[in-house]
Amino acid sequence: MPARPAGRCKIAVGDLEATFLPDGYICATPESSYPGSSEPLWRANPHLLDGDGRVVMSLGALLVRSGERQVLIDLGWGPTESPIVDPATGATDGWIAGGALLRHLEASGLRPEDVDTVLFSHLHRDHTGWLDRNGTPCFPSATHLVAEAEWTYWTTTGDLGVGPAPTKEQLDALATRVTFVADGDTPVPGVDVLATPGHTPGHCSFVLSSGTERVVVLGDAVHCPLELLEGELAFVADVDPALAQRTKRQIEAELLRPGTLAAGPHFADLVFGRLLSGEGRRRWCFPEAQRSVQGPPPRGEPA
Ligand SMILES: [Zn+2]
Repeated sequence: MPARPAGRCKIAVGDLEATFLPDGYICATPESSYPGSSEPLWRANPHLLDGDGRVVMSLGALLVRSGERQVLIDLGWGPTESPIVDPATGATDGWIAGGALLRHLEASGLRPEDVDTVLFSHLHRDHTGWLDRNGTPCFPSATHLVAEAEWTYWTTTGDLGVGPAPTKEQLDALATRVTFVADGDTPVPGVDVLATPGHTPGHCSFVLSSGTERVVVLGDAVHCPLELLEGELAFVADVDPALAQRTKRQIEAELLRPGTLAAGPHFADLVFGRLLSGEGRRRWCFPEAQRSVQGPPPRGEPA
């Protein structure tokens, strides 16, 4: 069956609750997503591709409820429907669609002002979309947290003209409310910061834990499950590909600890999965318990 963007789905993590709130999706050719990857690899993994043979990546946010705290990890792309055009050839390589996040937040029983904390894994455009609308904060009550190295990168050396960089307007909006977090911090009870640099210099994952249960929220340290099964699969937008690969080995070790699930917000179909080792090869299993409450709205690509 062709891959689809993940729908809204929820799991319990001990006393915590984690809900994936869809915003939309990115679909792009394997060549543009993973330059240099082989055709046979993708032919062997058709479940990661849509009906047109493009890699499907979900877009969205993870809502974490911890006691009275209402936390969003990342903020999707925001309202858009636009093609991804190869600048060299002018060909359409894929498609970006977003805008469903607030509807899914409301369906989860929350208003934007109920969110008290926004945690950014990093500041790429597909994670900052609902930061601000026309000069007004989308989550006016929330503290906005990001690693200092990430903020410094995008406000000094990061190229705002390339790929999924944040916009100048987004950085200006965030400047008025940003607070820094660091590796090992616990900004919310049960939510620990895990530095996972490489995709971007200040990229962070987050470890949700309660009792004996853990969920590692990958952010963009891992975009698709195949990245942990095929050693050298490198994503196009990694700022430091070599460091990103070393970080993947660190993530892999985290995921193989007992009682640990991954939350892959870019994974297609199902975002909560368990990495298993054995018989000389890793594999994933995706628990049925996270079955989607409601999928994202169907969107058509223009002719
Ligand atoms: Zn990214």
